[in-house]
Amino acid sequence: MSFTLAIVGRPNVGKSTLFNRLVGRRLAIVDDQPGVTRDLREGEAKLGDLTFTVLDTAGLEDATDDSLPARMRRLTERAVDMADVCLFVVDARTGITPTDEIFAEILRKRAGHVLLAVNKAEGRNTEGGVLEAWNLGLGEPIPLSAEHGEGMPDLYAALMPLA
Ligand code: GDP
Ligand code: MG
Repeated sequence: MSFTLAIVGRPNVGKSTLFNRLVGRRLAIVDDQPGVTRDLREGEAKLGDLTFTVLDTAGLEDATDDSLPARMRRLTERAVDMADVCLFVVDARTGITPTDEIFAEILRKRAGHVLLAVNKAEGRNTEGGVLEAWNLGLGEPIPLSAEHGEGMPDLYAALMPLA
């Protein structure tokens, strides 16, 4: 049995970096139909002995500030509905922002199973951001560095019961 994980969160927290780390070269070609935007990327993830489907909400980067809330909501809800579990990613360096709070609210209402990751947690001076993430009320934050590959054993441990 496998499962589908949706990586969700506001732009620039490192969702695509994590997606790329999990998927490597096994990126599925999702939409080659004209007129279909590549808002959702799907890939086959590998983490230790786990294999699962992973979704990246990739279409948020080019959203203007004006269109951001509605687009973010739509795309995130689509990903949430397709997934068995959501990995909500926040940024240890910026701390929790009002946009993160909006995401947390969407996920509390809509998602069955939510895991919380605090990315960019490599190096010093990131403990504050990790501690702040407890305030989201989504359980224990998993510190990660998608860029440097840190925290992957803890992500594995959180996902293992789902396999
Ligand atoms: P997305 O918009 O959430 O998909 O974020 P991206 O994956 O595009 O990353 C946004 C920026 O954060 C890029 O400049 C990445 O190099 C950087 N980034 C991603 N992961 C990490 C990390 O673990 N540590 C640090 N310091 N930067 C990261
Ligand atoms: Mg991205």
